Amino acid sequence: MDLRRSIPRTDVVLADPALAAAIERLGRPAVKAAVGQAQAAARRGEIAPGEVVAAAVRELPRGLRPVLNATGVLLHTNLGRAPLSAAARAALHTAAGTCDVELDLATGGRGRRGADAVAALREAVPAAGGALAVNNGAAALALTAATLAAGREIVVSRGELVEIGDGFRIPELLEAAGARLREVGTTNRTHLRDYAAAVGEDTGFVLKVHPSNFTVSGFTHSVSVAELAGLGAPLVVDIGSGLLAPHPLLPDEPDAATTLTAGATLVTASGDKLLGGPQAGLVLGAAETVERIRRHPLARAMRVDKLTLAALEATLRGPVTPTRAALDADVAELRRRAEALAAAVAGEAVPSRARVGGGGAPDVVLESWAVALPERLAAALRRGEPAVLGRVERGRCLLDLRAVDPADDPALAAAVRAAVA
Ligand SMILES: *Cc1c(COP(=O)(O)O)cnc(C)c1O
Repeated sequence: MDLRRSIPRTDVVLADPALAAAIERLGRPAVKAAVGQAQAAARRGEIAPGEVVAAAVRELPRGLRPVLNATGVLLHTNLGRAPLSAAARAALHTAAGTCDVELDLATGGRGRRGADAVAALREAVPAAGGALAVNNGAAALALTAATLAAGREIVVSRGELVEIGDGFRIPELLEAAGARLREVGTTNRTHLRDYAAAVGEDTGFVLKVHPSNFTVSGFTHSVSVAELAGLGAPLVVDIGSGLLAPHPLLPDEPDAATTLTAGATLVTASGDKLLGGPQAGLVLGAAETVERIRRHPLARAMRVDKLTLAALEATLRGPVTPTRAALDADVAELRRRAEALAAAVAGEAVPSRARVGGGGAPDVVLESWAVALPERLAAALRRGEPAVLGRVERGRCLLDLRAVDPADDPALAAAVRAAVA
């Protein structure tokens, strides 16, 4: 029998519920094209005629897919860093339509864009006289440099010339914003006198960068915020993670409130690291300086959209974020969840070591629990629905529960069963 004869016709394939749903989402031409590719594969004998529907579904553009983060890395850059709280997701949904982002509904006049998010930031960090949200931490720093140090010097320690990731480096970012770097000290040791000798007429600001993705130990010295504040020049501190107040588990992670109280003029930070919100960059601090930054022409090129403003405000005003919940998770409870999951999927509950991740605290280990499975399941889990990303360690695939929302445990168990089958 000629197999090609039994290849299902286009209209038959398109009527399949999976593809009919895809037409709603992607339009008929795109789905038809995917069906055509699947039929061609069947004609070439690469797939059986009965596999055409499944193959067409695989060919469809998928968009971003949800992934259960069982890596034990709370802020996984490749998974989009912080997951948003339910409150922030609801706010995103509301803002997705037309909304009062720049309108005062009481008067009918123009409103200040993002005023609610700024107010929420200032309430969360009373030490900040002013606040501004831009696209990301890098934008916050670049805009600060462009406003305060274009054509002038930024005094920074050689121990804090950080590469953020994907080849992007803070010193190059600052130079691209039009500032000159005045490097002081050495990789391992920088003293107050090094800064003092460099600060002068030409100083735009002194910059302190939190080394958020590495640690230097041994014969080291760096200068505190309080000491740097005494130099007389404006002091900008890039704290990285967006922690607004101290956290007991993260004693070495700088926070906005403490840094400003210690005398920093400005703090810059990310919104989607330990703050647990959407991708954003925060500039917090002296009201008049923040206002100058807000009025810089480049601020318009770095402004955040209504979705970010909505999610940021909801994150700040809302209940505990998923990131914070993961950070504060009770180890005994993690163990109980791991044992329940292990029993449900014939895995083994094992102690594990979770981490904050690209977002900060590189040397902090968070005690955790995981379910250990055979290593070969890792790939099937990744390709499953929902996709699950675990951590492969010493020949096993570990599903660490610290970054998994407990409400997702049943979905995780189902995904493991599907991967096994
Ligand atoms: C993460 C980080 C940045 C970059 O922030 P993005 O929001 O990723 O642009 C800059 N500085 C420090 C110290 C960081 O930790």
